Amino acid sequence: MNNKEIAKLTEQHVASTYGRFPIALVRGKGTKVWDASGKQYTDFVAGIAVDNLGHCHPDVVAAIRQQAGRLLHVSNLFHIESQSLLAKALTQNSFADKVFFCNSGAEANEAAIKLARRFFFDKGEKFRREIISMKDSFHGRTMGAISATGQKKFHEGFAPLLPGFKYVPFNNLEAVKKALSSKTCAVLVEPIQGEGGVNLPDKNYLKELKKLCAKNGSLLIFDEVQTAFGRTGKLFAYESYGVKPDIMTLAKALGGGVAIGALAATNKVMKSFVPGTHAATFGGNPLACSAALAAFKVYSKAGFLEKTAQTGDYFISRLRELEKSFSVVKEVRGIGMLLAMELKQPAGSIVEDGLREGYLINCIKQNILRFIPPLVITKKEIDGLVASLSQSLEKLQANLK
Ligand SMILES: *Cc1c(COP(=O)(O)O)cnc(C)c1O
Repeated sequence: MNNKEIAKLTEQHVASTYGRFPIALVRGKGTKVWDASGKQYTDFVAGIAVDNLGHCHPDVVAAIRQQAGRLLHVSNLFHIESQSLLAKALTQNSFADKVFFCNSGAEANEAAIKLARRFFFDKGEKFRREIISMKDSFHGRTMGAISATGQKKFHEGFAPLLPGFKYVPFNNLEAVKKALSSKTCAVLVEPIQGEGGVNLPDKNYLKELKKLCAKNGSLLIFDEVQTAFGRTGKLFAYESYGVKPDIMTLAKALGGGVAIGALAATNKVMKSFVPGTHAATFGGNPLACSAALAAFKVYSKAGFLEKTAQTGDYFISRLRELEKSFSVVKEVRGIGMLLAMELKQPAGSIVEDGLREGYLINCIKQNILRFIPPLVITKKEIDGLVASLSQSLEKLQANLK
């Protein structure tokens, strides 16, 4: 089928929850994807920070092929080798002692909300039910996750939400201080807000947040669904800020392109997940865990993260050149390969230009271009994008005059 035929089929039969561009992507390799007409694009979206290793990484593909011919799914009533190996890898390389597996970011955050509440229930502090989360945050689309998300547009029409959430502005410690009480069981925060605009934490914000939580006896939960697995130049974003949470949620890039989510926590907290408290039929299945294990081995290869950080530094320096040259650019910000260019104007035309020129780019909040390419993107590909952006920005500015 061609792009048009596939688009028509989608419109007829698939729920219209997504605003889609008029192309169907049918193949990918590394940093490149191809649509149904055979047109090639350099991918600066990476399936929304999922394809960190590039498309169809050979190690991930081999692991999936091998596992697919051996065992696809069995119940968590039994032990699963790849699941325990993946949990070992995640805990040996993070603050966490134990992992619970699920299938998505939203599900991981649901698990985090349940675990935090259950932890205090078990401690006999049954009044500690409240979770403080941030304005402009994003934690997923299930009822619990939208209740945790501090953006009105995700709540509209879905009331009643899950009770027990308080929203405070990101980067505002005073607001957290005011919101904290003996009822607070946890503070939930993305170390860097992704969907909310690629908002970086102020220096020491996360450290101070941890101190406030500790003083109040509350848990600190980091939603690293978007920031983990090299996206910020480290395996986990928290490493850049010198703060360890009590609970961390993961998904997106964990499976190297396969759906899998996880909740990682210290023993002290994870003790509350006893048999019967939580479960997921598909959580930690052999196929997803084999893919994730193969992906994890690549993330942990010597030099992989360092190279990512270097390429990210180069990328942001090139974007900063555009910021200097074009007054329509309000700000360039980010870390590693989680970058954004905020415009003073809607940025839709730039995304359209990109598609025409063979670049996939993502626009959030109408005027913020978010760049989240596979981490294996090259300087040459970045130069190509910057040249294309430069032309688009020039056009956009000319049209404003
Ligand atoms: C994408 C995202 C989620 C939701 O993940 P899903 O897999 O779509 O449920 C949650 N938190 C953050 C920070 C995300 O970026």
